[in-house]
Amino acid sequence: MDTLFRFDRPRANQEAIMKSIGNALSLKRNILVNAPTGTGKTDAAIASALSYAIDNNLDLFFLTPKISQHKIAVDSLLGIRKKFDNRIRYIDIVGKRNLCINTEINSLESEAFYKGCEKAVSSKRCVFYTNAKEHSNITEEVVEASYRGHNALFEESFNRGICAYEIATQLAKDADFVIADYAHMLNPYTRTSFLKKISHNLENSIVIWDEAHNILNAASSYMSTSLSSNAIANASKELISIGSSIDLEYLQFMLKKIAERRLSGKNEAFVEKEDIPKEVVENISEVSKQLEKAGVEYLTESKAKRSALMHIANFLVSLNSKDESIASIITKNNKGLRFSLTCLYPEKAIGLFDEVYANIFMSGTLLPLRMYKELFGVSDAITEDYGSPFPKGNKLCLIDDTVSTKYESRSNEEYKKIAERIEEIRMITDGNLAVFFPSFSVLNSVYRNMKKEVDYIQRSEMKSIAVEKFIDEFKKGRDSTMFGVMGGSMSEGIDYANNAIKGIIIVGIPLEKPSLEINAKIEYINKRFNGKGAEYAYLIPGIIRAAQAAGRAIRSENDRAFIIFMDKRYGWSSYRSLLSKFVEISENRNIIDSVSRFLSV
Ligand code: SF4
Repeated sequence: MDTLFRFDRPRANQEAIMKSIGNALSLKRNILVNAPTGTGKTDAAIASALSYAIDNNLDLFFLTPKISQHKIAVDSLLGIRKKFDNRIRYIDIVGKRNLCINTEINSLESEAFYKGCEKAVSSKRCVFYTNAKEHSNITEEVVEASYRGHNALFEESFNRGICAYEIATQLAKDADFVIADYAHMLNPYTRTSFLKKISHNLENSIVIWDEAHNILNAASSYMSTSLSSNAIANASKELISIGSSIDLEYLQFMLKKIAERRLSGKNEAFVEKEDIPKEVVENISEVSKQLEKAGVEYLTESKAKRSALMHIANFLVSLNSKDESIASIITKNNKGLRFSLTCLYPEKAIGLFDEVYANIFMSGTLLPLRMYKELFGVSDAITEDYGSPFPKGNKLCLIDDTVSTKYESRSNEEYKKIAERIEEIRMITDGNLAVFFPSFSVLNSVYRNMKKEVDYIQRSEMKSIAVEKFIDEFKKGRDSTMFGVMGGSMSEGIDYANNAIKGIIIVGIPLEKPSLEINAKIEYINKRFNGKGAEYAYLIPGIIRAAQAAGRAIRSENDRAFIIFMDKRYGWSSYRSLLSKFVEISENRNIIDSVSRFLSV
């Protein structure tokens, strides 16, 4: 079969990527591909993997950490169907809640939503579910809508009164290609039931992991949870409201006892096995079931959107698990006590890498490749690193070592200096300027010292829809300044293409805040990967977050921008050599002169 590439001709790097992936698949080996955004790696990977999958009777998954990243795969598939063969079947699936058309239930949150749906289905109260099971409702129009992506499928299903999630999972059964979220496959607690529902299996599947530098964090988050004194108080109120006799005072007492025993003046401490009372351990399964049942009752009676009872029921199940990679930590802050179960390394979740036919890991920041190969546990993998396809002269990267956001250097004096540097650069920038900070706290501290107003400021409580609107408006501006944080929705997975940004300033290094959790992670990775904890769990992830933010401006051969890494540590050899893996640093010492000259061309 022809390689299913949707455009007329692949560019040089795309051709090389297709060849490498085809070769890896024919050898049944995993492959890690690092290629900057703009290379067209998604089209290349899909073309090569889909052609191989169809020829060899295999299934193909394309998984992303964010829903917004499904679109590029859908566009690629639409193009392939148009150009080659409109019999290729694919489906774009997102989380059940996003495809639920039952407005009484889809407004419920997390655990409450899943329980609400389960109950509505088992009691035959969801007519949309019943309609979806009626085969005649899956018309040609519904199938055609599904090819345009999950939003179009939702709309078509909504108009017809059929559950879009049920339709998507039914169509997935016959699909050659499934676009889904990381959570569908990485969450070890739900993966098996998802695969069963769509009648696919791991052995016969090739998996493309898009933005693969996010895999470990995403997988760890699915395996982490926490219990706060506030949640227990809320759950107790829920119990009273339904007239239940269950008393949760002993959980509150347990938290207090652990805090007394372990904290002694500190704000955080490890919780040891012996800190959990025997009676709690022995009755965990029973109590968890009771709380879940009470949670469902509370939701039914109160019409609330979420239930603390359900959250606690889930926490207790996790508390009962014997996973060595989970750190138990108690913390105290002004909101009360929190008992966290944090996954330090998601070995259990990524075990599926060994079970599938082959994995294709790709990202624009999958460096150093040897680290990911080791962390993903795929020692046999082929690695490929492609350089930027865009003219070198379109980007100027400089280090400004006059300031720092290192914890010991943080002071209002330093924030004032940073604000002044930003003002100076803003004065000479004829176009939009994006400034990314390591945290909201640094962002706010610098902002307070700015003399001129900043047009767009990211806030921690902003919802994704507000973020999208905010970015769209910023991009339309001609001379606007935006303040955002690294590692967030404004600095990753979003394009500021078509010269929407003239310059980016990366303030500080977005390293994890010192905490027991990060220390435990470093320690765990040290043991597991031969002393590489600090590098793998702390340093490199920080530099990757900075490189992700720095990569926002240059998305095509016509984009041109300067990037300033503003922190003296970027000049230190350890940080500089890591940063150089992602960007080419220019040696020019006078920032203002260099930027002015660059912008005048
Ligand atoms: S069956 Fe579908 S429509 Fe009904 S509640 Fe569940 S997800 Fe929503």
